[in-house]
Amino acid sequence: MSSALLSYEEAATQVAAFAAQRSRSNLRTERVALVDASGRTLAQTLVADEDQPPFARSTRDGFACRALEVSALGFLPVAGATHAGEAAAGPLPPGAAWEIMTGAPVPGGADAVVMIEHVERVGNRIRLLPPRAIGAGENIVAQGAQARRGDVLLEPGAALGPAQIALAATCGHDALTVRARPRVAILTTGDELVPVSAKPQPGQIRNSNAPMLAALVAAAGGEPWVLPAAVDTAEALDAALAEAAQADLLLISGGVSAGKFDLVEPALARRGAQFFFTGVRMQPGKPLVFGELPKEGEALPFFGLPGNPVSSAVTFLLFGATVLNALAGAEPQGPRMALARLTAQVKSKNGLTRFLPGRWESGLPAGQVPQAAAVQWQGSGDLAAFARANCFLVVPEETASLAAGDLVRILIY
Ligand code: AMP
Ligand code: MG
Repeated sequence: MSSALLSYEEAATQVAAFAAQRSRSNLRTERVALVDASGRTLAQTLVADEDQPPFARSTRDGFACRALEVSALGFLPVAGATHAGEAAAGPLPPGAAWEIMTGAPVPGGADAVVMIEHVERVGNRIRLLPPRAIGAGENIVAQGAQARRGDVLLEPGAALGPAQIALAATCGHDALTVRARPRVAILTTGDELVPVSAKPQPGQIRNSNAPMLAALVAAAGGEPWVLPAAVDTAEALDAALAEAAQADLLLISGGVSAGKFDLVEPALARRGAQFFFTGVRMQPGKPLVFGELPKEGEALPFFGLPGNPVSSAVTFLLFGATVLNALAGAEPQGPRMALARLTAQVKSKNGLTRFLPGRWESGLPAGQVPQAAAVQWQGSGDLAAFARANCFLVVPEETASLAAGDLVRILIY
């Protein structure tokens, strides 16, 4: 039946379309202190309260001057000095220079700053060391060159990171209105699961997906809500799904393959689920299920993630995070992909897009393409290998193998 499954690209397109249609639907907002705003989504406009920079600013330590005079007249007397933090001085007398520090306002009349390294100073006079010349505007950022008072600098939906936080600080905001984090229910399923603190009995394993998915959700801007793990019975799943109904997004791990105790899809169907797809031509992650449950107001999107830890992680990164991002009110944003050059051969299988745990190296000299290689692993339950990896290598379904030196797409997280 695998020919009936969607390709990875088809599934990604469906999820992106769903995300785009949902991205304006979460209207809950809250105020947060600027220092807590990183990773959040802006829910207000950010307007420049002043010109930026607010005064013509020197970008160098040196001497403010008229470019024509300093290039032609030889030695110029130094008429004064301005430090960063002082108000603009001047005006600059004709035929003179003005000592100035980085970040200080340039005196009226000056149109360039010569760098201190390019100047010879004799007593109170300086000259530009020949054969140098300087043009008007050099080493000065004009008032308002970056933004004008009243300009909209950020729109609602902007992702807030260090740069946006600095910009908000510059505009005088010590708090911002942001979107509320979507609440993401995490329901793990399986008779074999015991809590992390328990000693597994023969045949049992610790529930690693609950904390892993909670970490993934938090990193993607959601508020994780970990439900107690459910055993593989219809009753347990019905009760757990009823509880999870209050969430903004539901992640279910396990119970979506073809096994006898894979009871999640029937349980979702009993609650009136609409299934967008059940299965994708990818590995790991083939049994992935995506749909929505009826709910008062807007329907509750859900993903049934295959229980193997690496499968759960990669399907969340590829699909779940896209929907979560949209529910957080952010600009549409797919998974983070980049290109890297393989340092060793990678063997794959035709007919499935493969996501192989790999390591990419980012600390290469400037100008070099990042390098990547597959990590040895024993399949999608291999958490030790997953923990050694820092990316997934993406091998298209028509590609049976990639050679050392080939470019490969990588999924970064
Ligand atoms: P399933 O998708 O339910 O068939 O599970 C596939 C594999 O993933 C099985 O080996 C499960 O034991 C394992 N697994 C399922 N859920 C979890 C979990 N929460 N934590 C760790 N492993 C899990
Ligand atoms: Mg199971």
